[in-house]
Amino acid sequence: MKAICGESSPGQATIAPVADCLFCKIVAGDIPAERVAESDTTIAFRDINPQAPTHVLVIPKDHHPDLAALASSDAGLLAEVALQAHRVAQAEGLGDGGYRVVFNTGPEAGQTVFHVHAHVLGGRRMAWPPG
Ligand code: 5GP
Ligand code: ZN
Repeated sequence: MKAICGESSPGQATIAPVADCLFCKIVAGDIPAERVAESDTTIAFRDINPQAPTHVLVIPKDHHPDLAALASSDAGLLAEVALQAHRVAQAEGLGDGGYRVVFNTGPEAGQTVFHVHAHVLGGRRMAWPPG
């Protein structure tokens, strides 16, 4: 696995993992995932149900339920997630054609895992408006 930004071992979160959180378990290495990048504070792994040729999730290692919670409590970490999303897109060869970054926020928007994550989607033409 290529570390796009820094090296660290799994589970290096500073906030205690949430016991029933799927993505905290992926951070800890308790549930396997195809990791494509890691930094001190984030990991990126392929979505289990890809919606585009490239579909990677970038998450902070620390548990924050959604975008609003992350933005209000750790803006620097949000910036790191955004930068890591861009690095992943570049590493996936999406730098020229472009890519989409989505934070589903809340059930009405389709959020199903309440550990904030950026979807990085690309490799096909994206429709607008999204469904
Ligand atoms: P949300 O619906 O919350 O915006 O996105 C959650 C994403 O997590 C979905 O795209 C779903 O396919 C993905 N997902 C759910 N369970 C797993 C899993 O166990 N492993 C991986 N890699 N992705 C998962
Ligand atoms: Zn979590």
